[in-house]
Amino acid sequence: MASNSVDNISQFEQHSSTFLVVGGGIAGVTCAETLAIYHPEESITLITESTVIKTIANLEPVARYVYKFDVKERSLKDKCQASLAPTIVTIVDRLKNIEALDHCVTTENGRRIYYKSICLCTGAAPNLVLGNNPRVIGIRDTDSVLALQEFLKHAKKVTLLGNGGIASELAYELHGIEVHWVVKDNHIASTFVDPGAAHFFQESVRLKRSEHSKADKEKTQSTSIVKRLRYKEIQLEELCKESSKVHGAALGPDWHRNFTLTGNALSTTDLPIIHYKSYIKEIIKENEKMVVTLTNDERIECDFLISATGVEPRHNYSCSIPLSMASDGGIAVNDMMETNVLDIYAAGDVCTAMWEHGDHWFQMRLWTQARQMGCMAGRSMGAKLTNEVIYQDFCFELFGHVTQLFGYPVVLLGRYNGQGLGTDYELLIRSTAGKEYIKFVLQNGRLRGAILIGNTELAETCENLILNKIDLTPYGDDILNPDIDIEDYFD
Ligand code: FAD
Repeated sequence: MASNSVDNISQFEQHSSTFLVVGGGIAGVTCAETLAIYHPEESITLITESTVIKTIANLEPVARYVYKFDVKERSLKDKCQASLAPTIVTIVDRLKNIEALDHCVTTENGRRIYYKSICLCTGAAPNLVLGNNPRVIGIRDTDSVLALQEFLKHAKKVTLLGNGGIASELAYELHGIEVHWVVKDNHIASTFVDPGAAHFFQESVRLKRSEHSKADKEKTQSTSIVKRLRYKEIQLEELCKESSKVHGAALGPDWHRNFTLTGNALSTTDLPIIHYKSYIKEIIKENEKMVVTLTNDERIECDFLISATGVEPRHNYSCSIPLSMASDGGIAVNDMMETNVLDIYAAGDVCTAMWEHGDHWFQMRLWTQARQMGCMAGRSMGAKLTNEVIYQDFCFELFGHVTQLFGYPVVLLGRYNGQGLGTDYELLIRSTAGKEYIKFVLQNGRLRGAILIGNTELAETCENLILNKIDLTPYGDDILNPDIDIEDYFD
């Protein structure tokens, strides 16, 4: 059944709701859905700036506590598509101010909405390098990818800045354009992987590319169009109609498959030219071109620059009682997703987890955690209403993230890059070019984290080994011996 749509309540100047959720990204939608499951008798309002919301589909366990899922865009204009729980009322509007003592918000379009508790899920915005330069673009939401497509139409050369997931995907997804990839580290994709895994990816991509004939390349292009149809839930025209001032939810996994990302250069190697350990020193305009000078004084003459250098939590509204902020600019929340202000909660990219973290968990602004936090906030708001005591979800005991990088399935578990372990750990690695890369992070003989690339089928075993703190010392290096099935060993 469709939820109450925008139109039903557009004439309301004043509205009241037990629960108010702000933001139609994964965190906000999950929070509202969780509230609807636990409290179907209560009113729930979801305010969001864009008519496109994000929902989760095809949730599939990869291990006991780690899931993979698809992120679908849904239009609130299409009642069948939106398909939120029937008790959720949606309003397309922008939160402007929170009157914390009165338990009331005002919106950009002059609505006043009263609440018993509110959850802020307003996401994050790209942290743009030289954001006031019209030739610098950041990738965050569908609108920004449409802007990228426009730039690509006339471009032959681009500079790509950043070394996280977005830059790593773009570096190999852009075709028909010379890509100069500027990374601050001595290896690519440093947010997610170590130099060994980066080498594995580069070799694999190189092998695949060299195997492709020209005809294969054409086939690849048509394959991506098939994928594009599968993923294109919302007509691009509809997205274009939305005001450029409106920020949609952050893109989800596989976002680049929805779009053709081809430049205007006739022949390129299609492999990025990587500038390691470099930063941008200066950008100037020279005859219709952009000239980027790097810290090693190298000059790149290009048509535009893509800045993919992380995000900043987005709280573009005021609150009558100042909300406490963490040092990274996120709204500080405790283990129940509560802020310092009574009955105001926050979840997803906008917040910073200030509770004492478990041994195997840390915060990263990812859709996995947006979903987990949205769910936790919903449970917590509901429990407060009924004076129930609840505990934090078990998912916060173990960092787990499932993604795709360079076409390979990737599972990251625990302190997969030795995060927070200083130098007091050792690594065990097994790598087969083009097939798999497995890295175990061991501390005092115990598994503290793992990177699993390829179809390793080891996620659940690793999850158990990490959570149960099993001493692996007796097994020595055999733990990654390809002739030993460690799944059988520990089941
Ligand atoms: P968002 O999805 O940003 O949603 C925020 C919502 O709040 C939006 O609907 C917005 O319209 C609304 N809003 C903002 N301000 C207001 C206001 N004042 N009033 C009303 N509404 C408002 N993560 C992964 O795990 N894997 C990936 O592969 C991955 N790839 C990514 C690729 C790209 C290009 C980007 C940009 C991000 C990627 N991420 C990825 C990160 C992931 O998308 C985010 O961590 C996640 O979507 C955050 O969800 P959220 O609900 O907190 O915020």
